[in-house]
Amino acid sequence: MAVEAVIFDWGGTLTPWRTIDFSAESAALALAATDGGAQAAEALRAAGDAVWSRSRDHHHSATIEAIFAEAGLELEPARLTAYREFWEPHTATDDDVRPLLERLRDEGMRVGVLSNTVWPRSWHEEIFVRDGIDHLIDGAVYTSEIAWTKPSPEAFQAAMAAVGVSDPGSCVFVGDRLFDDIYGARNAGMLAVHLPHSDIPLGQLGHTVGEPHAVIQRLSDLPDVIAPWR
Ligand SMILES: [Mg+2]
Repeated sequence: MAVEAVIFDWGGTLTPWRTIDFSAESAALALAATDGGAQAAEALRAAGDAVWSRSRDHHHSATIEAIFAEAGLELEPARLTAYREFWEPHTATDDDVRPLLERLRDEGMRVGVLSNTVWPRSWHEEIFVRDGIDHLIDGAVYTSEIAWTKPSPEAFQAAMAAVGVSDPGSCVFVGDRLFDDIYGARNAGMLAVHLPHSDIPLGQLGHTVGEPHAVIQRLSDLPDVIAPWR
């Protein structure tokens, strides 16, 4: 067996896990509504919960625009500044990432990202550029651009296509969620590595607990785990 590609989840995997205050998040998001305020924040919070439930139960993806539509609100994209500022401190790339990705690529592996996200690609790419890792990523799939979310096999197949590999058995997937990431990757035929530090919100826990092929305590431990698989 030869590992051709390593594909990473983003939040809680390439970024250290941060517990999010969803009420504060909704309040920041409501500032982008034509008619903002407390009622808008409540509607957006409920719409966000509905969207993530559909991701969990039916693996249907969504966008920020879809959350506003679900809430019956009109989005003014130019006013998303406060929402992005709310998230900004939670987006920092783990210090282990850059040396890890450089090493994987030096050893001939391709590097990918597959994120369940409602954000547009450009927001994610700006973070990778800011943190100096954009040039180390061969391909990325953001579920806001496709119909499905993890753990759907379609999401994993899209990520394989993005990095240019066709055999799931030659892919290692690294993630922090046992349902979306670990069950999903194994179900798609990949090798699955769990990074278990995230405190997943109750409403986002999955229906199945996947069993990883390996567990790592930090990203810098990954090359030693992959070595016997190469
Ligand atoms: Mg994650």
